[in-house]
Amino acid sequence: MTFDQALQAARERLAATSATAALDAEVLLLALSGKSRAWLYGFGDTELDSTLAARFDEWIERRAAGEPVAYLLGMREFFGLPLEVSPVTLIPRPDTELLVEQALALASAEPAKALDLGTGSGAIALAFASQRPDWQVIGSDRVAEAVALAQRNAERLGLGNTRWLHSRWFDHRELAPHSFALILSNPPYIAEHDRHLEQGDVRFEPRSALVAGSDGLDDIREIIVASPDYLVPGGWLLLEHGYDQASAVRQLMERQGFARVASARDLGGHERVTFGQQATAPGTH
Ligand code: GLN
Repeated sequence: MTFDQALQAARERLAATSATAALDAEVLLLALSGKSRAWLYGFGDTELDSTLAARFDEWIERRAAGEPVAYLLGMREFFGLPLEVSPVTLIPRPDTELLVEQALALASAEPAKALDLGTGSGAIALAFASQRPDWQVIGSDRVAEAVALAQRNAERLGLGNTRWLHSRWFDHRELAPHSFALILSNPPYIAEHDRHLEQGDVRFEPRSALVAGSDGLDDIREIIVASPDYLVPGGWLLLEHGYDQASAVRQLMERQGFARVASARDLGGHERVTFGQQATAPGTH
């Protein structure tokens, strides 16, 4: 069997279960063979050796059963950074780049400290740290394997302005009160009975990174209530949330005393990131 024939068969095998069958097949075969897309177009009539054919077949079967391409590859690009990913964390999504862009827009010119809560693979913290090398960025996660994964990503990318803590939200004692100019999070925000959980990649992602109570707002509420104690005066809290949660999140932030509360839209036109500023000086609320 040639590369072209293997791809053709894989596309047909994936057609019923993946909306991106042709792309999936090509990306997986290129990763396994170490060939480039250009090579494939020129030399697609080359025979596949049997070891490669068997490994490709195994990946295509797993993909046909729904396993995300990112978990098969063990990597995903985010904000231009190649990141190791694994089933212990959420797969970084293009939507989340909006959170990073808003954080960069709100970050003061002077270097300061940022905190990414529930950092998972480290995607948000690393993207921010790569753009603001003069800032100190802490990523925290309550899953120890996620902390180790984020740390490996930081080391491989050479982003020395990052630190990683094993912590449930703000629980770690090294997180000093009133020390962060930015607090960022893409927390779990899906309601526990949402049918979306039975579709696509999310079926294979950790529930603990996705689900937050009956309305999906449990973790967001907790972060909004606790954040004022950890922000410097004038610091910002930025949260990613679901497409229909923006007004609820704005209300929660306003009730907590945040100023200049607003939301930003993703490329699909949905309000997906909400932010607010800590206006009160420490100790006055
Ligand atoms: N955006 C993800 C999804 O809808 C959910 C991410 C999250 O809960 N933080 O699949």
